Amino acid sequence: MSDCIFCKIARGEIPSKKVYEDEEIFAFHDINPAAPVHFMIVPKLHIASLMEADPSHQMLLGRILVIAGELARSQGLNEGFRTIINTGRIGGQEVYHLHVHILGGPEPVGPMLQRKAP
Ligand code: 5GP
Ligand code: ZN
Repeated sequence: MSDCIFCKIARGEIPSKKVYEDEEIFAFHDINPAAPVHFMIVPKLHIASLMEADPSHQMLLGRILVIAGELARSQGLNEGFRTIINTGRIGGQEVYHLHVHILGGPEPVGPMLQRKAP
């Protein structure tokens, strides 16, 4: 996907604050952080969202989760972090290149979602 913003970031065509890179994976800080530490892990392969994930992506997506803790620790998140994957319109996805958000900081990040009043 030549016009995808996260493909361009992963290829180094758009600058980013890089956290990690290998042959398959790129991680970089969110431009508009929602926590003191907020970065995203993306596959270099363009997968639009979890809706488009298929069994051929199993190893790649597994690697992203397996590396998350190590990358979080590298950013000082030694006591835990929040992991978010937004999918589609209902999930509030803005960028249609699958990405795993990692959020944390010195204080707990708060409730997962606001519960609506009954
Ligand atoms: P989504 O809502 O799709 O799960 O999250 C997309 C995220 O990408 C947002 O948190 C947004 O701040 C971030 N973002 C959008 N454009 C850029 C960009 O050009 N650079 C970086 N580093 N983050 C971006
Ligand atoms: Zn892409």
